[in-house]
Amino acid sequence: MPSKAYLSAIINKKNTLTFDDFNFESSLLEGLYSMGYKTPTPIQQQAIPVITDNKDLIACAQTGTGKTAAYLLPIINHILHAPTRHLNTLIIAPTRELVVQIDQQIDGMGYFCSVGSMSIYGGSDGMTWEKQKHALKEGVDIVVATPGRLISLLQAGDINFEHLQHLVLDEADRMLDMGFFDDIKAIISYLPKKRQTILFSATMPPKMRLLAKEISNDPEQINIAISKPAAGIVQQAYLVFDNQKEALIKSILKNDDYQSVIIFSSTKENVKLLEKTLRSVDGSIKAFHSDLEQPEREEIMRDFKAKKLRILIGTDILSRGIDVDGISLVVNYDAPGDPEDYIHRIGRTARASKAGVAITFINQYDQQKFGRIEALMGYDVTKMPLPEGLGVGPVYDPHAVVKKPSKFGSKPKGRFNQKDRKR
Ligand code: AMP
Repeated sequence: MPSKAYLSAIINKKNTLTFDDFNFESSLLEGLYSMGYKTPTPIQQQAIPVITDNKDLIACAQTGTGKTAAYLLPIINHILHAPTRHLNTLIIAPTRELVVQIDQQIDGMGYFCSVGSMSIYGGSDGMTWEKQKHALKEGVDIVVATPGRLISLLQAGDINFEHLQHLVLDEADRMLDMGFFDDIKAIISYLPKKRQTILFSATMPPKMRLLAKEISNDPEQINIAISKPAAGIVQQAYLVFDNQKEALIKSILKNDDYQSVIIFSSTKENVKLLEKTLRSVDGSIKAFHSDLEQPEREEIMRDFKAKKLRILIGTDILSRGIDVDGISLVVNYDAPGDPEDYIHRIGRTARASKAGVAITFINQYDQQKFGRIEALMGYDVTKMPLPEGLGVGPVYDPHAVVKKPSKFGSKPKGRFNQKDRKR
């Protein structure tokens, strides 16, 4: 049966829904308007009626589409309709940064209503957890957590999900990539069978579909077309040998137009090395990786958001979910292996319809990978001439297979090592 919101849109002969069509509580509407949201994004238009109707949902939508509000708004509205003193909603997300951002969005939307939320992730000290346990007893509506931390607490018997009504898995594919499949299944075994299950994922690999089928009940499916970078991003690429990359990045960073920059490199070790190298060019630079303690990570992110730091260097841990406005340049110091990662990385710039530049360095070994990225996007990225004095780079031939000589034999499988999978 079509939802009330859809019916109202049809009756009013409107092609698109507005937030007023969802019959949200006025205090919630006030919160979302105060956040500057004017009209619902496509994923919000499609997902909000389904979630409001209490149906299970599997949604394919990436960061930047407004997916967080798509599930938060109807859930907060449910809570406002029928307030209880019990824990109502569990949201599981892959990283601490995403957990914090979701919690901040709850604070923003719920600013004018009484909705209590709590974020749970590794790295908090014992005191914090004691306080949190107290708050949970007092009545928190929504818990937002990383899987690793949550499973430890569940095993210790510290959280009671007896009255839970909504489960949300956000960036579910990312959680599977990080090896959280078993943890998620274990967490779900602690939850009531009668609940609404909502799963958001940027991609739908077969393992994801399997999990979705197992944990949901006759779900509605929504697919928001992805894999196209925002139109405001100017994409450029340089063909370089590895020994030319350092001079090239230094020359690019001389451009004062780039006031807020993210540089992606493939490994944590390269990120640390690059930070040392570039510190001589610009002291306003920090590396962001999983070896940092949580307070350090938060401080770096705060400084970067506040534009006290000009340059942030990181691995793909930075590419999803980080919500910082006004990033003028994203550099892929190493071309990403996965086309979806490329889209996520460059999606850090040109947010909210602003313009931004994304530059990728392609060495002779990464050309095939980059060819796949161009194929997925359906167009070629402009190849820039190297600045004077840097010499000649490799010729672009994405169909040629150039194997990287390996000193160590075969590479370990998987995109994350154990240390990256912090709890
Ligand atoms: P997300 O895809 O959830 O990461 O959201 C990306 C960004 O879009 C966040 O900064 C949100 O605050 C913002 N956003 C979400 N929904 C809307 C909306 N309807 N109008 C304007 N901005 C929005």
